Amino acid sequence: MTKATILILGGTQEARELAQALAGQPEMNVITSLAGRTAVPHLPPGRIVQGGFGGIDGLVDFIAAHHVTALIDATHPFAARMGVQAGLAADRAQIPLLRLERPAWTRQPSDRWDEVDDWDQAADALKTNAARILLAIGRQELAPFAVLDHLWFLIRSVERPDPMPPFRQAEFLAARGPFSIADETALLRAHAIDTIVCKNSGGTASAAKLVAARELGLRVVMRRRPARPVTETVTQVDQALVWAIRVRSPAR
Ligand code: NAP
Repeated sequence: MTKATILILGGTQEARELAQALAGQPEMNVITSLAGRTAVPHLPPGRIVQGGFGGIDGLVDFIAAHHVTALIDATHPFAARMGVQAGLAADRAQIPLLRLERPAWTRQPSDRWDEVDDWDQAADALKTNAARILLAIGRQELAPFAVLDHLWFLIRSVERPDPMPPFRQAEFLAARGPFSIADETALLRAHAIDTIVCKNSGGTASAAKLVAARELGLRVVMRRRPARPVTETVTQVDQALVWAIRVRSPAR
């Protein structure tokens, strides 16, 4: 059997779990690639490369240089640029591509969600009926909210924004999920939050805030997922494992 080399585009819990599952497979090399944004990332088992490829050409070169036989895009649902680059690079390198993507959260009947397509729309939505906001969108895209001087923000992210945009009224909270419903409820109450702004990441690690918001009757401004190229997609790690085994030895 020819030895396969699977390149996982990572940065998610699913990518780590998949690397773990593939590490136990015979005749399979696994490389996980991380963008390198997080100072202390949770590292998966196996070989790691960090810092990006330098666009589509860089990824195509990497695939050739490391004899990558299959590509799995397990990046976060909001890492849309990497998704596009993965599609184009896999086409050019003529290797199979799989997208591993957790399902999106769906609105429940008692949810008070305003769904938006970008952060400018989210900032607009806050101009009415909001006063104290939990901003749970990471640390890179805070600028559209920093101009809303009359609002108070609790900014929660894994690492402190650097530089911190010039918010007039804001507090920063460093935290990394998973979060429990009890802790989220206590946090929302302690800060008298009336609105949460977040992205539709899906998964369980950060879903508790939505349950807490539902129970407390709070509003959620939810950013929809960006579009990605159409490609074969699975939602579960074990389905990705089956795919990787199938493409390793297609004739069997
Ligand atoms: P992005 O906008 O789609 O990608 C921007 C650039 O970052 C890409 O062009 C690529 O650089 C590099 N990159 C992204 N993911 C990479 C990977 N897995 N391996 C190597 N290079 C990668 O991505 P992003 O939204 O900045 O997210 C960056 C990473 O954080 C992703 O791995 C993602 O899974 C993780 N993450 C993102 C979010 C989010 O909300 N966006 C949340 C949690 C985790 P080159 O062009 O130089 O190759």
